[in-house]
Amino acid sequence: MTWSLRRRGRIIKREEENRTIMERRLLVKQYELLLDRDICIGCGICADNCPKEAIIYSPAEFRGIRAVTRPSIDFDPERCVLCGECVSLCPMHALQMRIEREERVPVIEMNVFPLATRKRW
Ligand code: SF4
Ligand code: SF4
Repeated sequence: MTWSLRRRGRIIKREEENRTIMERRLLVKQYELLLDRDICIGCGICADNCPKEAIIYSPAEFRGIRAVTRPSIDFDPERCVLCGECVSLCPMHALQMRIEREERVPVIEMNVFPLATRKRW
């Protein structure tokens, strides 16, 4: 895919089989946030703790007592800042962050995870 200067720096969301991928390409770096939908159980912990309220939570739908859809999440690319806090909180390891294809979590590397988390509680 050719990336125009206009799109560079913006987060682009795309679906790929069982994955949702949020991608930002800068001049020298590529950031990716990946959600594996097969692993996600829809617990909503990530949505409750995202400092930018960039995760949209959809509860399960029921017909009578039978669940017809699973709870799920989605991302708002206009709000996400690719901090990686959701990645570090997911109990199922359904989320992953990569910088230049290497697994990394900015909020941990920059040692701001405790600050970001404590603001939420
Ligand atoms: S915390 Fe993990 S398992 Fe729970 S909804 Fe978020 S991605 Fe899915
Ligand atoms: S990377 Fe940060 S801003 Fe983006 S959805 Fe996860 S917690 Fe929210």
